[in-house]
Amino acid sequence: MDWMDRCVGNRVGRALAESGIGTGEVARKAGIRAAVFADRMIAPATFTVDELVLIAVALDRNPVDLLPDARCLPDAGCDVCLGRS
Ligand SMILES: [Zn+2]
Repeated sequence: MDWMDRCVGNRVGRALAESGIGTGEVARKAGIRAAVFADRMIAPATFTVDELVLIAVALDRNPVDLLPDARCLPDAGCDVCLGRS
């Protein structure tokens, strides 16, 4: 799993868990087919930027919350990457 998969997957997963909204409902609100959403969660680096923006809005989050930051580069990681939050 590369760093983009790791961080985006963990960030989307955390935002989903904190929202209490099911993945099917989030996909519907974001206008993304549920099967596509499920595929993206298997390989989170395949989320497109527009999908991440739509998911963030569906979760009432800032889109940047779902993106890696400067700490998330290979051989490093933010708290979310590393499963600390
Ligand atoms: Zn990270």
